[in-house]
Amino acid sequence: MAQEVDGTHGTTVLSVVIPMYNEEEALPALVNRLRPVLDGLGDGYEVVAVDDGSRDRTAALLAAFRLGWPELRVIGLRRNSGHQAALTAGLDRAAGAYVVSLDADCQDPPEKIPEMLALAREQGLDVVYGVRADRSSDSAFKRWTAGGYYRLLRRLAGPSVPAHAGDFRLLSRAAVDALKALPDQQRVYRLLVPWLGFPSGQVSYERELRSAGRTKYPLGRMILLAADSITGFSAAPLRLATWLGGGAFVVCLGLLVYTLTGYALGHTVPGWTSLLTAVVFIGAVQLVCVGLLGEYVARIYTAVQNRPSYYVGHDTADGPGDSAGDS
Ligand code: UDP
Ligand code: MG
Repeated sequence: MAQEVDGTHGTTVLSVVIPMYNEEEALPALVNRLRPVLDGLGDGYEVVAVDDGSRDRTAALLAAFRLGWPELRVIGLRRNSGHQAALTAGLDRAAGAYVVSLDADCQDPPEKIPEMLALAREQGLDVVYGVRADRSSDSAFKRWTAGGYYRLLRRLAGPSVPAHAGDFRLLSRAAVDALKALPDQQRVYRLLVPWLGFPSGQVSYERELRSAGRTKYPLGRMILLAADSITGFSAAPLRLATWLGGGAFVVCLGLLVYTLTGYALGHTVPGWTSLLTAVVFIGAVQLVCVGLLGEYVARIYTAVQNRPSYYVGHDTADGPGDSAGDS
C-alpha cells in the first residue's frame, strides 16, 4: 500500500519529524549527524523540527541553522504540549511520501534512516519500526519499568506491538493519513500505529546515551503515558470493581457463616480488629475503583471538550507571520 511521491506531495520524498523541548544542548550534534545522512539520500527531503514551546535557546538555534539549511522547516508550538502532541503536529504538517519520527537527543541514530527507507521501498511496507537491540544504556529502573510497560502494551493492543520500539519509526503517506483521520486526542503512537494493522517491518538499532541535556520524561510523565496507554485501549480496569465486589461478597458470606456457627455453639466471635480491617479494606477498594472511574471520566471529558491538542504559533513553510492552523 505504500505510495511513492505523487503530485500533491511534490518532490518531498522524506519528512523527518523531530519533536524538541529545551534541546539547545543536543541540537548541534543532531544537525551534524542528520544532515550528511539526508543529503546523501539523493531524494528531496524536509526536516520538520517541532519546537514544543521550548524556553531555552532551541528556537534561536533552529533559526540560525535554517539560514544554511533550507530543508530545515521549523514549526513552533505556542506552548509546551508534550511529546506525543508535538509528534502529532509534525505528522499533521509533514509533506513527505514517507515520514520518519526521531528524538532530538540522538538516541535514535539518524544513520538508520536510509536502511528504514530502503526496507519500506523494497518490501512495500507502510511501517518500519526502529527496535532497540538492547537497553544497556538505560538505568536499571528504566529497563525494569519499560519491560513491564511493553508487556502491558501487548496485552492491550495485541501481539503486533513490537517490544522496545519507541517513537523511532518510518510511516508511509498512507499510514500517516490513517493516523490523521483518527479522532483520538490523547495519542500514544506506539499503540495506535500497530493497531492500524499496516504491513510492517523492523530495523534494529543500538540506542545510545542521550547526547546532551536531561531527559524530558521524568517518572511522572512516564506514569501519565502508561495511564493514557491503558485508558486509551482497554476498559478492563473498569471491570475490576465488579470482580473486587464479587470477591468481597464471597469473603463476607464466609465470615457470616463462621460467626453464626459461633453463636449457635454458644460463644461470640471476638474482635473489633477484624471489623476495623474489613472496614478499611472495603474503603480502600472503593477509593481505588472511584479513582479508576475518574481516569475514564477524565478521558471522556477531554474527548468531549474536543480542544486541539496543540496550537501552531508559526510554521516556516507558511512564510512569516502567525499561522493559526492546528488540530
Ligand atoms: N519532548 C517534547 N515535548 C515534551 C517532552 C519531550 O517534544 O514535552 C521531546 C524531547 O525533546 C525529545 C523527545 O521528545 O526529542 C523524547 O524525549 P526524551 O529524550 O527526553 O525522552 P527519553 O528518551 O528520556 O525517554
Ligand atoms: Mg531521549
